[in-house]
Amino acid sequence: MRAKKFEIKIEKYLKRQFGITIDAASKRQIYEAVMSTVREELSEKKFVYEQELKKTKQKRAYYMSMEFLVGRTLRNNLFNLGLEQEVKEYLANNNFSLDEIYDIEPDPGLGNGGLGRLASCYLDALTSNDYPVTGFSILYEYGIFKQVINNGWQEEFPDYWLDLGKYGLVYRNDEEVEVRFYGYVEEKLTEKGFTVEHKDYTAIQAEPYDLLISGYKTDSVNTLRLWEAKAKTGFNMKLFEKGEYSKSSEAEAIASSISKLLYPADSTNEGKELRIKQQYFFISASLQQLVKNYYNEFGTLENLFEHVALHINDTHPAMGVPELMRLLLDEYGYSWEKAWKITTKTFAYTNHTIMSEALEKWSVDLFKPLLPRIYSIIEEINKRFCGWALEQGKGYTLAQTAIIYDNQIRMANLSIVGSHNVNGVSKLHSDILVESTFKAFNELYPTKFGNVTNGIAHRRWLGQANPELAVYLEKLIGNDFIKDLSKINKLNNYVNDKKVIEQLMDIKKIKKEQLAEYIQNTTGITVNPNSIFDVQVKRLHEYKRQLLNALHIVYLYKEIKYNGLRPVPRTFIFAAKASSGYQMAKNIIKFIHSISQMIESDELVREYIKVVFLPDYKVTLAEKIIPAADISEQISQAGKEASGTGNMKLMLNGAITLGTLDGANVEICEAVGYDNIFIFGLETSQVNDLNLRGYKSWEYYSASPRIKETLDFIRTMTVGGMNFSFIVDYLLTQDNFMCLADFDSYVEMQEKVSKIYQNKEKWGRMSLINTANAGIFSADRSVEEYAKNIWNIKKVK
Ligand SMILES: *Cc1c(COP(=O)(O)O)cnc(C)c1O
Repeated sequence: MRAKKFEIKIEKYLKRQFGITIDAASKRQIYEAVMSTVREELSEKKFVYEQELKKTKQKRAYYMSMEFLVGRTLRNNLFNLGLEQEVKEYLANNNFSLDEIYDIEPDPGLGNGGLGRLASCYLDALTSNDYPVTGFSILYEYGIFKQVINNGWQEEFPDYWLDLGKYGLVYRNDEEVEVRFYGYVEEKLTEKGFTVEHKDYTAIQAEPYDLLISGYKTDSVNTLRLWEAKAKTGFNMKLFEKGEYSKSSEAEAIASSISKLLYPADSTNEGKELRIKQQYFFISASLQQLVKNYYNEFGTLENLFEHVALHINDTHPAMGVPELMRLLLDEYGYSWEKAWKITTKTFAYTNHTIMSEALEKWSVDLFKPLLPRIYSIIEEINKRFCGWALEQGKGYTLAQTAIIYDNQIRMANLSIVGSHNVNGVSKLHSDILVESTFKAFNELYPTKFGNVTNGIAHRRWLGQANPELAVYLEKLIGNDFIKDLSKINKLNNYVNDKKVIEQLMDIKKIKKEQLAEYIQNTTGITVNPNSIFDVQVKRLHEYKRQLLNALHIVYLYKEIKYNGLRPVPRTFIFAAKASSGYQMAKNIIKFIHSISQMIESDELVREYIKVVFLPDYKVTLAEKIIPAADISEQISQAGKEASGTGNMKLMLNGAITLGTLDGANVEICEAVGYDNIFIFGLETSQVNDLNLRGYKSWEYYSASPRIKETLDFIRTMTVGGMNFSFIVDYLLTQDNFMCLADFDSYVEMQEKVSKIYQNKEKWGRMSLINTANAGIFSADRSVEEYAKNIWNIKKVK
């Protein structure tokens, strides 16, 4: 019945929009019709949902994030609406393939990596669990770049995702707001008391677009609100006539840059300024809108924290703290003390990294002229905080805790001071936060810090990405794991069932064959689906150590070619984008391609090993690769990967983790036991000790023949006219992540992997145990913890 109605709507859309019937429609028109019909369906549901929320006035969470890595929406929405099967059949009856329609949808390029994907997994999970939440971010016109590989080098191209992606968006021109930059602040004592006025500012218009978020089998529909920057009045005639030519089009120039790109290069001052503008733009627009609506509804802001939980996802939205203060002080006339109480009770902050280069700092000289009022509020917060901190007499210096120090504004410190709760994203990471990175803050605020281990939207990463496995599991253990992933542990009852293990391995083989075909079509490389699929997919970064993986491959090449090694066949699969200004990361991509080329041109070696680099890593590509993986490479230097979520997706799909005891690998290890995971390398404390003693790479080089021979071989490597000595020099003189210290232990573990893989039943059992114990890594579990322990929000009835 519902399906029939849905079909009628599609046909109506075709008629209205294009004046055609379905048999005359093109694929592109069908795509537009289905996307638009889904959007309408969700809009109608959302209307009812919002009515309910208006009645209950219950508390809602607002998740502010620079990134949301949404992935394609159409399949997820049809899956959640329970319409996928019917729509598939309906389209098939009209000679369209739903899978081909899915393929038309671009990935909304609104995120970069794990942080953004986490934000999207959380919106999905919160909605599926009926928690009221709104996401806030920017409608990037180009988002993250499209990666093209040319002669082994990464090249970046703009991704025009909105061309086809816009059909999922609802334009809400009723909720536009204005965001102000530059100018100066005038403080006055009037009969109304002390007032602050922002003068001579440049105004930018923030236009809201909503992406509606569906949940699995529920009537809840939440919203991801995306702001687009537009010049307020466009061209300023008055200024132009006065002869102020550059100023007259200033707003236009600012506006057009703000919502263009995610993470514009920030090596220059202009780049840094643009990032501050982006952050303030979406935070100010979101909070102005929210506060206005709240005041209209409740007539006060005094109890804001009773109905609103604001979340700072990493430091990018940290300006929410001074912006809310500004609204409370300047626009609504609250005293500092009251405003501060309201603000700190409303905000919570998640830290995602301890890498010092990612803990944002902005120069006062850059920040102050751009946001004069926000700067003066941060200054006051800092002054009061420092005074209070000194009074506590803990003996910490301002160098450790001050918000403004050395002419820089430290956004992590601002976030901690302005929030009532701070959490890390895995047990290990949260321990490192309180024991080292934020030790001083933890002593000042002993109850503020906590942990919520990350999780993944399992309905996407299993249900949709691997329907073969999901359908089989449903038959075997029932379908309740789709709603509640902890139920997947029923699979543990089959650890000794050879038939089940065989079936699971058959499904893995199907996924590997599908990926092999994709690899053939995109790279021209033929891979053997019977080989071990050894997968490392994630952003390219030195700390993630794709280079360690590459070193092992070179070692194998050399052993096969010169020393008679005949290993179990393997396909090494990489996918990774390097940040556009990150040269070493780009060099590593080139190195991996060169190894691939070297192997492909060797008749002997390519019988045993292959290297494939799949370009343009994104959610849609991850959905193809992850179900086909045998080995999940999680080989970051211990202490550096805050959590990882790729590791969880791979585990759920039956890949076995080969990793260091880092991030959530530690918890994966606890869940499956040391027999069902391959752990190698230094642990966090050993890395710290080694850092204190001083890491001497050449000692590893001299002591280990394997390292010496591999590095010496790389010096002789010339591929396509390029020599790779610089890689060796890097490893010996610059590598902060100590690849050589872990190399021997890594190679030995890789040998164990090959050995166990030959025992199909044993391998299959390990794989089964990984899938069966992935329940705790559902984002449903994570968002329950946020809802209960941090936001104090309840489900919509
Ligand atoms: C899950 C995911 C990530 C995060 O991977 P990690 O291995 O945890 O770094 C990055 N990008 C995409 C597209 C993902 O789906």
